[in-house]
Order: sequence, then C-alpha cells, then structure tokens
Amino acid sequence: MFSEEKCSSCGTPLKGEKSVSFLCPSCGNIRIGRCGLCRDQSARYTCPECGFMGP
Ligand SMILES: [Zn+2]
Ligand SMILES: [Zn+2]
Repeated sequence: MFSEEKCSSCGTPLKGEKSVSFLCPSCGNIRIGRCGLCRDQSARYTCPECGFMGP
C-alpha cells in the first residue's frame, strides 16, 4: 500500500477531498497524486516510469 501519497506536481502530501490519486493512464504502474490546488491550476504531472505527461 502507499502510506504517504504526495502530489506529483508540487510534492504536497495528499489530503482533503479535492485530492485525487490514480494510476498512470499510460503504463498503469505508477500511482500519480494531485492535490486540490494543482487540480485547480491544471498543473502538469509526469510519470516517473514511462514519462507520460498529462494535465
Ligand atoms: Zn499539488
Ligand atoms: Zn506511466
């Protein structure tokens, strides 16, 4: 299990109902987290395994 998930864009620990985490849509091996702030700002994330970039 992932005990402490962090936002993949800014590194903030994920907490709060606006935060989401999901598996990389490209490789499906990496769990990507996004905090509420980065969702609002549509910050980009990059999968560390396959290099997929997404909004
Ligand atoms: Zn963030
Ligand atoms: Zn990936």
